[in-house]
Amino acid sequence: MNRYGPTRSSLNRLFLVGILIICSLCVIPVISRFATFGSKQIAFTGPLLPPQKPNPFITDKKKSLEALDQELFNDILPSVALYTNRGVNLQITSLTCKMCRSIASKIGEIMMLNVTQTIAIEEGILICTAFRIQPYRVCAEILPKFGPWIMTVLANSVFSADNLCGKAHLCPMPDHPEKPELIDLPPPIPSEPLESIINEPSQDDEKMWVVHLSDWHFDPEYSEGYEVNCGEPICCRPPNAFGDKAKTPAGKWGEYNCDIPRRVIESMLEFMPNVVPKIDYILSTGDLPPHDVWAETQSSIKEITNKTANIWRKFLTSAPYFPVIGNHESAPVNSFPTSSLVNVSSVSWLYDTLSSQWNIWLTHNERHSIEKRGFYSARLPDDNMRIIGLNTNFWYKFNWWMLMRPKSEWDPENMLNWLIKELDDAEKLGEKVWILGHMIAVNGDGFPSFNSYFSQIIARYKDTIVGQFFGHNHWDEFQVIYDYHNGDEPQPVGVGYMAPSVTSFRNVNPAFRVYEIQKKTKKIINHYTYYLDIEEANRNDKPEWKLLYDVKTLYKLRDLEPQSWHDLSEKFLTDDDAYQTFKKIASRNQILNKYGSCNAFESSQQCKNRIVCKLRSTFSGYGPFSSHELCKKHIWIPHLPEDWFLTATLGKKINVFVDMNKFEGEEYGDGDGNMNDEDYGDSLDSLFESQDDNDKSGNGGNGDNENNDEDKPNDDITIEGLPKILVRMALGLVLGGDDAICR
Ligand SMILES: [Zn+2]
Repeated sequence: MNRYGPTRSSLNRLFLVGILIICSLCVIPVISRFATFGSKQIAFTGPLLPPQKPNPFITDKKKSLEALDQELFNDILPSVALYTNRGVNLQITSLTCKMCRSIASKIGEIMMLNVTQTIAIEEGILICTAFRIQPYRVCAEILPKFGPWIMTVLANSVFSADNLCGKAHLCPMPDHPEKPELIDLPPPIPSEPLESIINEPSQDDEKMWVVHLSDWHFDPEYSEGYEVNCGEPICCRPPNAFGDKAKTPAGKWGEYNCDIPRRVIESMLEFMPNVVPKIDYILSTGDLPPHDVWAETQSSIKEITNKTANIWRKFLTSAPYFPVIGNHESAPVNSFPTSSLVNVSSVSWLYDTLSSQWNIWLTHNERHSIEKRGFYSARLPDDNMRIIGLNTNFWYKFNWWMLMRPKSEWDPENMLNWLIKELDDAEKLGEKVWILGHMIAVNGDGFPSFNSYFSQIIARYKDTIVGQFFGHNHWDEFQVIYDYHNGDEPQPVGVGYMAPSVTSFRNVNPAFRVYEIQKKTKKIINHYTYYLDIEEANRNDKPEWKLLYDVKTLYKLRDLEPQSWHDLSEKFLTDDDAYQTFKKIASRNQILNKYGSCNAFESSQQCKNRIVCKLRSTFSGYGPFSSHELCKKHIWIPHLPEDWFLTATLGKKINVFVDMNKFEGEEYGDGDGNMNDEDYGDSLDSLFESQDDNDKSGNGGNGDNENNDEDKPNDDITIEGLPKILVRMALGLVLGGDDAICR
């Protein structure tokens, strides 16, 4: 390990110098703009500066810039001088840890200042516009919405004293309880043999019909005649070109680059009773607002969810209706802090809003549960079942609040433990359960640990959970869930139905799903997907909803048990016609057929393998097939470890992307060529592994390392790692324009 070069003390000094540089880069522009130097008051007059708003995520008292400035001189500079004066012989003592903590906490405090955030937002707008990431209007609106959130999370996670100084080995890592690998599950109770699915056609009164609607994204601003290719994230709405000025004017019945107008939703809901005369339950798996995430505010969200609920009230009152919350329901999008962060941020405004807007469909208890944490369980004694509506935003990896929650909170809002309790109660009472959620935990959307936890729960209660309904991806997909903690061969134990979206955004035809359910077992025996070809509807000026397929006939399935879905995924590998059919219906025959598009680096077979791996819950690098020959070679995007934000910022991740060769092999991989959590491990920590430590660890290993070192400069990892961290951190500030540099 001594090829990592310089000893701990010199690396530590380098680290501290780096921190000081960054600190200075943060402080100097702030001071240079707002502080008084002599008699000269420097006023800020940036042309793109949005009106300065207080950070909404700070509720407690803040220090003034002057106070911070004073602390910097009082606390840090004397320590640095002392350190420098004593030179290389300085031992690693608690003083160094204290100094690091002091610097780190100053960085955090500076990041939380309104002035710092205002500058960062302004520089962000410059970069966003200059590099044409988005048009100016979008850049100027989106950055003030996300900037304070991101900086608050960074200041309290990546740049927290615990993290920075612990990772630098200057302070001991805080003693957080480890999150469990296996979760506590009550032992299975002996039960009667499983009732097998009856394949013979059941009588009508032995069936139930359930409608599944997902990802509505209703856009009240959709306007016929406005530009379809407007250059913003979604189009077909003012203020973009209209009439003669529009090169591609939006059609009356929707466009593939836009969210959905009211008339399409209404035509769908009017059509529905024609094909489902008797609906038993209606399920909605979230995402109600349009994709204009740059413009959304709490009040615009309340307005759109209210408008959507009014449409529901008009059409969806003939059967019990169960909606859940998607990631788009919040403003900013994806922002779902847990109640442990209540001093920083809260999403109770949304829970209260939805609870009151959904009052005609949910009971008092269910609404109360939504108001508390955004999830609920509905007992349906007449059918001897319960429907559990989860708030899956707590496992969504773009809900950045999750990076900031206390480490002990491995189960945010206790939702998984609550789910286990609900399932256990249901099992004891002989009830069946359907699970609803916006996004499933077992693909790349969830943090990896939730992939494992959710699979464990599904495996334990596989006889009780007979339906799982999700959305989010807008494609028409399914996801097989396996029991991979029990025995050698992973067994398929569940299937998540990812319903097609109501919206046509992006490159899909609007659709809805109807499930045929066996009343006795509450199991799904077939499903039917209906769609509207919007291109045809625009051409004929007439919406014609049609049956796209019924799944049992289409794939000649024996039944809709998890094993059959696993077998179907197996069939895709050898039967290309079946796979092409699946690909085509994923977008509901949309002409571009974008689902499962291959990238430039893979053959069509590799591309197919990648999609099949995804259907088998292995996309995040976890799951029973992640080390399987089929999957391991072709998942070229490594999954993001739980603290991906931290690792990306601290350099480990970027090194892997920049120079895979350096990190492949036995020291950084487990030999399967597939980077996983452990592989990313602690490469930064390795930077600080000292010669002294290696000396203590024994001679054998050292001997080998010394031989290796003959061929290599002994600081190669240092050059790869540490300066890059500093350069990247500094670059963000320097690239922001000359305003960010001292002058
Ligand atoms: Zn969506």
